[in-house]
Amino acid sequence: MTEVAAIGGYSDSERAAYAEIGAVFHDTLSDLLAAPEDERAGVRVVAYKHHQAFGAAEMDKLPALALIANYGVGYDAISIPDADARGVKVTNTPNVLNDDVADLAIAMLLMQARGLVQGDAWVRSGTWAKEGPPPLARKVSGSRAGVVGLGRIGREIADRLAALKLEVHYHSRSEKETPGWTYHADPVSLADAVDFLVVALVGGPETEHYVSREVIDALGPQGVIVNISRGSTIDEGAMLDALEQGGLAGAGLDVFQGEPKVDPRFLELDNVVLQPHVGSATHGTRADMGKLQRRNVTAFLAGDALETPVN
Ligand code: NAP
Repeated sequence: MTEVAAIGGYSDSERAAYAEIGAVFHDTLSDLLAAPEDERAGVRVVAYKHHQAFGAAEMDKLPALALIANYGVGYDAISIPDADARGVKVTNTPNVLNDDVADLAIAMLLMQARGLVQGDAWVRSGTWAKEGPPPLARKVSGSRAGVVGLGRIGREIADRLAALKLEVHYHSRSEKETPGWTYHADPVSLADAVDFLVVALVGGPETEHYVSREVIDALGPQGVIVNISRGSTIDEGAMLDALEQGGLAGAGLDVFQGEPKVDPRFLELDNVVLQPHVGSATHGTRADMGKLQRRNVTAFLAGDALETPVN
């Protein structure tokens, strides 16, 4: 009987590794839930590489479910209270992706401030030869940057900001030990103090619209937002209003509400850099995430301790 169901788009080598432990594959959670009852009844482990909501209704269709091994550090699609209520363990893939996600945050910050998308277009269109150099851009070093959520990824971002000679500020729920970065007890005070605001929070209901209209107003017309967390952490409507009306200077965004569909208002803006949720999307990091997910699955099947449990 099938014990492991692998959900989502796995690479050939990942599929081969799961095939070795007899996994069945489905593209989506809905596909697994639509499988015959005798297949669902045997599933103890779901290796999950998907963003579809996984809560009580879904768990109840998998009566033997005991582990959801998430591929990714963010597990906001999975309801932990519902998993707890059913004795289902959840694991994720922290740390192995910190560097890549932090690199992308810095890349978007620099792209936005230095107008790299516009510069590339300037060269390709022949405007450089016809009209001369493009308008001047914004100096990054020496500015003030704030990180919202000084967790694993937030800390890597802050280290990189410091290396780029920015003054580093941060907000977390409690003050952390840092090399002298300035702590702010609330996000409005942080936004008020900085030029660039980088969001590195967990997603989910508890952080929904944490970057509120008030935070955006405090960042102000010279402010730039970078978001690599989840689309839900920012009041997207308020951010779009500010970007359209000069209330913010710009944004660099890897994540969106309702992605992969993106609010068409973003597409009209020339002060934003938009990325299709690729924070961890390099060959090396994705392979490491897959290995960590599989180590959790095999540890569970062997009755060993889970390497990166969430609950
Ligand atoms: P982490 O170490 O758990 O840090 C999460 C941060 O969120 C911490 O600073 C924490 O605050 C804050 N936080 C958690 N619950 C909160 C709450 N209820 N209210 C306010 N703040 C709260 O997580 P991580 O490994 O750095 O990952 C952060 C997130 O990045 C992930 O959850 C995921 O959504 C996102 N991510 C995105 C990509 C991408 O491709 N763009 C890739 C990987 C991860 P404290 O410091 O106060 O504890």
